[in-house]
Amino acid sequence: MENNARRQTVRQQIIDLLRNENLTVRDLSQAVSIPEKEVFGHLAHIDRSLKSHGEKLTGIPYTCLDCGFEFDQRKKYNRPGRCPQCKNSHLQPAVYRIK
Ligand SMILES: [Zn+2]
Repeated sequence: MENNARRQTVRQQIIDLLRNENLTVRDLSQAVSIPEKEVFGHLAHIDRSLKSHGEKLTGIPYTCLDCGFEFDQRKKYNRPGRCPQCKNSHLQPAVYRIK
């Protein structure tokens, strides 16, 4: 139960942060002191729960720094391995925001 309560609090903190500014997964993991891989799980859950409030998790997708390809169809929050277009792996991190 303790753990669950903590998870709820962290999730609420992430929501509050994303209502005010654009943040990457790294920013969020530092702001709430959890590993980046836990942030992915929270984002997926937040996206689902926001829909019932008329809000939405949006932002700028991962972008390839070599050719400009945008991973805008991507439904996952973890970092893509490489660009499907040019096969390079210099990617700009995705930025999230709640609107
Ligand atoms: Zn590319």
